[in-house]
Amino acid sequence: MTNAQLGGFVAELADLMALDGADRRRVSHYRRAATVIRRFDHSLAALIEGGTDLSRVPGVGKGLAAFLGDLVRGGTSPRLERYRERVPAGLPGVLRLDGVGVTKARALWAAGIDSVEKLGEALANGELRGMHGFGPAVVGRVRRGLAEMAALSEKALLSQADRVAGAVAEHLRGGAVVVEVAGDLRRRVEIVGVVDLVCAAEAEDLWAEAVAIERASLSSGRGTNPVELSLDGVRSRLWAVPHGVTGAVAHHLTGPPAYLGALGDRARGKGLELTPAGLRGTDGESTAEDAIYAALGLPWIPPEVREDAATLARADRGLPRLVERGDIKGDLHMHTTWSDGAATVRRMVQAAAARGYRYVAITDHSPSTGVVGGLDAARLRAQAAEIAQVQEDHPDIRILRGCEVDILPDGSLDLDDDILSELDVVLASVHSVFDMTETRMTDRIIRAMENPFVDILGHPTGRKLGRRGPYPVDVREILRAARRLDVAVEVNGSPRRLDLDQRGLSLCEELGVRVVVSSDAHSVTRLDNVNYGVDQARRGWLQSDQIVNTGTLDEVSRWIGRRRG
Ligand SMILES: [Zn+2]
Ligand SMILES: [Zn+2]
Repeated sequence: MTNAQLGGFVAELADLMALDGADRRRVSHYRRAATVIRRFDHSLAALIEGGTDLSRVPGVGKGLAAFLGDLVRGGTSPRLERYRERVPAGLPGVLRLDGVGVTKARALWAAGIDSVEKLGEALANGELRGMHGFGPAVVGRVRRGLAEMAALSEKALLSQADRVAGAVAEHLRGGAVVVEVAGDLRRRVEIVGVVDLVCAAEAEDLWAEAVAIERASLSSGRGTNPVELSLDGVRSRLWAVPHGVTGAVAHHLTGPPAYLGALGDRARGKGLELTPAGLRGTDGESTAEDAIYAALGLPWIPPEVREDAATLARADRGLPRLVERGDIKGDLHMHTTWSDGAATVRRMVQAAAARGYRYVAITDHSPSTGVVGGLDAARLRAQAAEIAQVQEDHPDIRILRGCEVDILPDGSLDLDDDILSELDVVLASVHSVFDMTETRMTDRIIRAMENPFVDILGHPTGRKLGRRGPYPVDVREILRAARRLDVAVEVNGSPRRLDLDQRGLSLCEELGVRVVVSSDAHSVTRLDNVNYGVDQARRGWLQSDQIVNTGTLDEVSRWIGRRRG
C-alpha cells in the first residue's frame, strides 16, 4: 500500500470521525497525520511490515499506529468499516464543498441532505431557505462550489492528465507504438476533458495493447477507433492512425476548432486544403507539423498559444520566444516544516540546488494562517539562524529569507514592517475571508501591495480548481496597481491553483506587469510544479524578460532592493 493510499484512508477516517461528532482535536490530529503520511518519502507500509513500532514515533500515538497496521496487513480496518456504516457514503463529499464545514454538513445530514446530489436538489428547490447557518452569502458560496465541482467532474487537473497520459504512453511505447500527445493536454489547458493520444498503429493492435494496461477500463469494443478508456478516473482516447500522418492528426486534434478554422481559411487563400490528415496541395501533401506551417508561410506556432484567428495575426507580426522551463533560475515560493511543508529547509535547498537553481526563497506562512502554525517575528528570526547554517553548507545556491504573509481583511499585513524589513523577499497572499464585494476585495489587495516591503502578490485570485472559483476581484485594477507600485504578481504552479490564469497572464503581458513563476512547493517533489506555472505563462504569451525568476542572482537581488531604496 502506497503512502498516498494510506494517507487517503487516514483522511477518510478523519472526515468520518468529524461527521460522527468526534472531538475536534482528535480529528485535526488525524488530518495532520494524513498530510504528513502523504508527503512522507519512505514507504510506510515497508516500515510497518519490517516491524517498526509506529506508536513510539512522536505524534503518532497508539490509535493511529493500530489503524495503519490494520490497513497495511488487511487492506482495511474494522474501525474504518464501523464509521463507514454510521455515516452516509455521500456525506464526506459534501465536506469537500467550499463554504461547508463539519457543523454545516452535520446540520444538512440532520435535515436528510446527505450527498452532493441531494444538496444540489435542495438548493434548486429552495429547501435551505430559513435553515440555520445557511444565509444568502453561504448559499451563494455553496452554489458556486457546486458549479466548480461539476466543472471538474469527469475531467482532470493538468497534473492528473499528465500522469495518465504518461502511464498510457509508456505502456504503448513498450509495445513499440509511436505516440503523440494532442488535444487540451498538449495546449496545457488547466482542466483536461479527455486525454488524446495519437498512435501509429492498426486499430485492432491498439485495442489489444490498451486491454493490457493495468487498472484501465475500456469503454469501446475491439476494432473501434478511437479506443476509449478510463484510468484513475481520467478519460483517454487512443487514435489509431497510419504511420507518417501522426504529426498531422496530432495537429488536428490539438485544435482548438476556432484556430483550425482560421488556419483552414489561410490554406484556402493559398489554394491549399487543410484536412485532419495534412495539408493538401497540387504538389502533394504536408503531413508533418512544421511542414504544414512552412507551406502556409507561417512560423511553427507553440500549442499553448493556439487559440483563434488572433493567434495567426500575431504570428504574422513575428512570434516572440516564449518563456521555457529551462529559463527558470530559482523559485521564490516554498514551504518547509517550519509551517505546513513536509521537508526541512535543508532538504528543500538541496533539492533546489540539484535542479540547478541559483537561488530560492523560503516563504513559510505567517501566524493568521492558524491551522498550519504560521511564523511570528520571533520564529522567523529563529528560522534565520537555521537558514544561515544551511547557507554555509551550500555556497552554490543563495537562500533568500522570505515569508508568505497573510493579507488581513482590511488589507493590512499579518506581520509588522520591522520583521518584514529584515526579510529578503516578501510574498503577500489572501488565505481567508473571501466573502466580500469586488470593490472591497480589490481595495484590500491593493492596500497590501502598497506596503513597500511586499515584493510579490501570491495566487492573486485565490481559485482552487474543482473546489472554489476566484474570489470577486477586479484583476485589471490589481494589475494596474502592481504595475504602478512595481510589485510582481505570481503564477502559482500548483495544479489546483494555476493562478493567475491565462487571461490574467495575458493582461500582465499587455500591461507590462512583472511575473514570478513559482511552485508553492510543500514538499521536495512538488518543486516540479513550477513547470505548470511556466506552461500557463506561455499560454499568456509571456517572455522570459518579463519574469523575475528567470533573472540571475544579481538581477533578482537588484529587483528585490528596488522599492526599499
Ligand atoms: Zn498561499
Ligand atoms: Zn504558499
